[in-house]
Amino acid sequence: KHIIIAIDGPSGTGKSTTAKIVAKDLGITYLDTGAMYRAITFAALEKGVAPTNKAGIDQLLQSTKIRFDNNNQIVINGINREKEIRGKQVSEAVSPYSAIPEVRSVLTQWQREIAGERSCILDGRDIGTVVFPNADFKFFLVTDLKVRAERRYQECLQKGIAMTLEEIEKNLAERDRIDSSRATAPLKKADDAIEIDTTQLSIEQQVKKIEDRVGV
Ligand code: C5P
Repeated sequence: KHIIIAIDGPSGTGKSTTAKIVAKDLGITYLDTGAMYRAITFAALEKGVAPTNKAGIDQLLQSTKIRFDNNNQIVINGINREKEIRGKQVSEAVSPYSAIPEVRSVLTQWQREIAGERSCILDGRDIGTVVFPNADFKFFLVTDLKVRAERRYQECLQKGIAMTLEEIEKNLAERDRIDSSRATAPLKKADDAIEIDTTQLSIEQQVKKIEDRVGV
């Protein structure tokens, strides 16, 4: 059976960590929609296209080739950019780019194409509200800001990404602010999504909460 699982929530709530494990356990595809927005942002920064440059953005959307390799790492115009899209520059620039309706429309279409062909668990901000309002299961993760910043900081240390705890906390708060207040597909819990507060939960516990609902 074809199934779609949506996991939305603010930045750093553990969506991707959880979704990766659930995808593996269920034998379905994990789709990191944030990586797509980060990829467009990387390409825009590389070419010097500002979010206000509408013609430049349209041109960029047409000319940039984005794909995921076999390890689910992002490849932009033929080059693996997994590390770059997680770094400080892209993290601090991404929200204004993802607020652009044309960017959202192209990426939403791509997400629907991929998940139309096979069962997927997608993580993002607007999966349960806009991309797949009829998803089979919808979850919305929330976590205290301090805890999110500390977890993301540990992740950055592991991946060799240079960002201080203060920079991360500021970035998470700023992205949430922009992501929730944009006009197109703002970050918002779908009315029928199940909210999970992961502040006090281990990864195993949050995975279990989701898998119990999905019925693994
Ligand atoms: O999930 P991640 O933190 O990698 O997402 C990076 C940014 O991409 C978010 O802050 C948001 O601006 C944007 N995004 C979005 N819609 C999605 C996924 C990500 O607007 N479905």
